[in-house]
Amino acid sequence: MKGRFGKYGGRYVPETLVPALEELESAFYKYRREASFKRQLKQLLSEYAGRPTPLYHAKNLSDEAGGAQIYLKREDLLHGGAHKINNTLGQALLARRMGKKYIVAETGAGQHGVATAMACACLGLDSRVYMGSTDMARQKLNVLRMNMLGAAVSPVSSGSKTLKDAINEAIRYWLANVKTTHYLLGSAVGPHPYPEMVREFQSVIGREIRSQMRRIKKNPSSIVACVGGGSNAIGTFHEFVDTDAELIGVEAGGGGLRSGRHSATLGTGSRGILHGMMTYVMQNSEGQIGSTHSVSAGLDYPGVGPEHSWLKDAGKVDYRTATDRQAVNAFMVLARTEGIIPALESSHAVAEALRIAPSMKKSEAIVVTLSGRGDKDVDVVGEWMTGHGRRSRKT
Ligand SMILES: *Cc1c(COP(=O)(O)O)cnc(C)c1O
Repeated sequence: MKGRFGKYGGRYVPETLVPALEELESAFYKYRREASFKRQLKQLLSEYAGRPTPLYHAKNLSDEAGGAQIYLKREDLLHGGAHKINNTLGQALLARRMGKKYIVAETGAGQHGVATAMACACLGLDSRVYMGSTDMARQKLNVLRMNMLGAAVSPVSSGSKTLKDAINEAIRYWLANVKTTHYLLGSAVGPHPYPEMVREFQSVIGREIRSQMRRIKKNPSSIVACVGGGSNAIGTFHEFVDTDAELIGVEAGGGGLRSGRHSATLGTGSRGILHGMMTYVMQNSEGQIGSTHSVSAGLDYPGVGPEHSWLKDAGKVDYRTATDRQAVNAFMVLARTEGIIPALESSHAVAEALRIAPSMKKSEAIVVTLSGRGDKDVDVVGEWMTGHGRRSRKT
């Protein structure tokens, strides 16, 4: 079967969706090789989004940890404040080449909706973003941003009024308008070709890390990235699979794995089908999707990209967790030592680097992908601090 990563991935969708996915697959395979497409994407990434992003030697943070040298891949400096723009620009450009004038997307916390709205405004495409009405009430600022960027935000008030209901509505809309519309998925998840396509658009992260490390004549001992759906992590790791570097993905440990309140899909889940893919899923013995929790909205997803499931089983990447408390602590340490406020998602990766650095040699290097900036998270962290760590955002 196409789009397989071992036994994971695939295309578990209703028959009616298959022609649209096949059209997308052949367009992606065609344009990914085409010189003018690659040139235009490269130009957008550099002039609009701000690539290449720096690889910053965080000396103060390294001293604080007291061991290996920590390098931060600064995806937080991109336009929009996160790696998501790498993917939305790639897919929006592909959609335009395919002659589609409309983009439909779903968003949970709103970050992907904002990155989609930006790419669509930049490329002259109309966008519609489905968002659960519960999420809209929680993330008013991102709803305003999307409106200002020209996206039509459609509230979804079915089911739990959150991400999974928004996904259903976006797919329904896509099916009804497939001739004119591209469905812009936000992570390396879903049916083929999305996991492979999103990986391709995000793997610019790892390629840059590799050439930046080469320039300073260092080989990373460890490379760390946080895992929600897994797009910044797969984009970081892809270039380094089967090298000497130890690859570590960090999932949201929430209140701890024993608390039952976490989003550690690879850590605690089992094989199942979710959103058109075979992958690790948080589910009970009857296959009901489990509830998730994380202090960071971007890691709060009960599935994971299928390639990560395969990399886990093959032992090529080690998947670990950081708890809410460890992530908030890493957030504070990075802010204080380096003057960088990281996204809470990225703080999970920073927490793991702080954990492993002390037992490594000073000459060794850890690369951490700082997937986004934390301006969006200062309220949550502030609330956490005043609650002395007992309170966290309800999700
Ligand atoms: C959305 C988001 C994530 C999680 O998504 P992945 O697909 O796992 O990368 C991580 N970090 C930031 C800053 C995000 O906005």
